[in-house]
Amino acid sequence: MAAGRNPDDVTLVAVTKTRPASDVVALASLGVGDVGENKDQEARAKHAEVGEAGVAPALRWHLVGQLQSNKANSVARYAAAVHSLDRAKLVAALDRGVNRASSARERTASGRLQVFVQVSLDGDPDRGGAVSAEVPALADAVATAAYLDLAGVMAVAPGGWEPERAFAELAAVAAVVRQQHPTATGISAGMSGDLEAAIAAGSTHVRVGSALLGSRPPLLG
Ligand SMILES: *Cc1c(COP(=O)(O)O)cnc(C)c1O
Repeated sequence: MAAGRNPDDVTLVAVTKTRPASDVVALASLGVGDVGENKDQEARAKHAEVGEAGVAPALRWHLVGQLQSNKANSVARYAAAVHSLDRAKLVAALDRGVNRASSARERTASGRLQVFVQVSLDGDPDRGGAVSAEVPALADAVATAAYLDLAGVMAVAPGGWEPERAFAELAAVAAVVRQQHPTATGISAGMSGDLEAAIAAGSTHVRVGSALLGSRPPLLG
């Protein structure tokens, strides 16, 4: 790999938003083990459809988009990971959701939910994410929740920023979190347009849609 990273250390999350369940099935048959969606409603329906197709029961579903706490129960039924936790209310909502879902055994994986705290690098609340100063307290809350595992941090490079600057700042936030939570080694960073810079800066999870599946219709994307 150009960045000198071991490919085994970087998980490809194939972002399948706006794509049909048949694309998820095709990716799974090619060996993709992780798929990402940005909306609960779409993800839930697709998860059910792929399940009915009877393929890839071990497929891990990642929720990568902004999440409202009233969707937490739903997400907890099918998601292996949430990349967009950005407020304390969501910690309690997801923890309760996983507790309920695990008794129904609808969840696969370990029964625990992997959670990345989303960082807003430019402080713009519209795209979601917590400002850096809020991240340690959110990380503590996730780590102490009964059914959640703190996976690490996530960010989307702000528009107009050099990706190198964005991912260096995210790596600094990740280092602060790891001081308190040494096992939270995940860095979810990098999309189709900036994944090389993210991998060079230490990303462990790249979220790639259009580079795998082609561009999405703009109104749906
Ligand atoms: C859509 C999306 C991606 C994938 O974007 P591409 O540019 O298609 O690779 C990654 N992360 C999030 C949060 C997304 O919403």
